[in-house]
Amino acid sequence: MLAKLITACGLIITLSLNTSLLAQSNAAMKKATLQQLDARLPEYQSIAQRIWEFAEVGYKETKSSNLLQELLRKEGFRVEAGVAGMPTAFIASYGSGSPVIALLAEYDALPGLSQQGIPEKKSIPGQDAGHGCGHNLFGTASAASAIAIKQWMDAGQLKGTIRVYGCPAEEGGSGKVYLVRDGYFKDVDVALHWHPKDKNFVTTGIRLANTSAKFRFYGVASHASVAPERGRSALDAVEAMNFMTNLMREHIPQETRIHYIISQGGKAPNVVPDFAEVFYYVRHPKREQVQSIFERLVKAAEGAAKGTETKMDYEIIGGTHDLLINHSLAKVMQQNLELTGGIQYNEAEVKFAKQLASSLTNPPDLSTAASILPLPDAIGTGAGEGSTDVGDVSYAVPTVGLESATWVPGVVAHSWQAVACNANGIGYKGMQVAAKTMALTAIDLFTNPALIQQAKEEHRKQIGNYQYKALLGNRPPALNYRD
Ligand SMILES: [Zn+2]
Repeated sequence: MLAKLITACGLIITLSLNTSLLAQSNAAMKKATLQQLDARLPEYQSIAQRIWEFAEVGYKETKSSNLLQELLRKEGFRVEAGVAGMPTAFIASYGSGSPVIALLAEYDALPGLSQQGIPEKKSIPGQDAGHGCGHNLFGTASAASAIAIKQWMDAGQLKGTIRVYGCPAEEGGSGKVYLVRDGYFKDVDVALHWHPKDKNFVTTGIRLANTSAKFRFYGVASHASVAPERGRSALDAVEAMNFMTNLMREHIPQETRIHYIISQGGKAPNVVPDFAEVFYYVRHPKREQVQSIFERLVKAAEGAAKGTETKMDYEIIGGTHDLLINHSLAKVMQQNLELTGGIQYNEAEVKFAKQLASSLTNPPDLSTAASILPLPDAIGTGAGEGSTDVGDVSYAVPTVGLESATWVPGVVAHSWQAVACNANGIGYKGMQVAAKTMALTAIDLFTNPALIQQAKEEHRKQIGNYQYKALLGNRPPALNYRD
């Protein structure tokens, strides 16, 4: 009995010795990783700057995607380009075997957001799109983070595979959904992601499931004054559909978001439009609600077509799941975000931030960029934000992400202010926070198999017996959705 007890104690001592040795080498690896990422900042900054200048919209990100691929190829990554039917998607891998840790990268810009990198509203002549969501920083940080991990693989300190998933068209094109649907995450253990924001925190809030579609109406053209009775207006049908949808808002769950633009409404007032198109988004925290509200939207479109004697068809453009939050991984990422720390502005950045802040409705507290928000007790709750195709990845594998203060506090996504910050020292510092936090988290994952098991267990419980089905169905990638 005594002998058994001594052996057990010995085992415990050995185990805790191993854990502390591991902790020590992890700490040393993490410290060196932070230094290495700092040393390479000028290079990464110029890549992010170039992607910002390219400002390519969804599925047209040829130069941006190539630039990131080139960077990773030079570092020895094996790059598979044009995956899942998307010419600008890629998967870059380094190392071999398990675990397989994925870093998601985005690089698409937004139409209509052209803006110079200055703290006052001024577009770039001859340019329409702009990086209003900071995906120029997103893609670059993820590549930088993977390169930092690769060095430890070369040194024999980390074993497994690190992968960068080059995901096009996040803004409405649902690029990641095709990667998930086509099985590209099948052998992945954990996926890491991040997003630009005006503060630093681990992502724990909900993201909305969504479905978007273009409804097209076909009427009969005629002279609007000479022979209006012979015309059937496709624009009338769009207006009738919108009217019904707007009435419907009173009779749908509160958390729903429905928005639309009339993407085509005729060419001249004196011609009865024989074609019109309206582009809709339906969002809700639960995908089942999105599906049922979308069905009602289709009924409104059918009713509108009937009443105006036009014809209607529709095309689903995008569809994403809500985002599953992995508590086990969020806790680990929180520690690493705290270790990385927030953002300190230099003199020029303070000046930029103050001038930019004068354009905001509420005067912000600039000091918040330096702090890290605590991890909330209740995870996966709170007001809904936007949607992300990371949601579909989170259904495929345990996923964790952070947001970092790439934008002056108070700045929101998809604004000219965000575009300006994304080509500024403030944006690059935020990008660094993300690259560092993801790299440190990956180190923990590579060195602690129990952590991956725990994350997977939690993920299994979240999924239950749900069989993943893409909300955009079987359609091929909507490569021309920005045309
Ligand atoms: Zn975004």
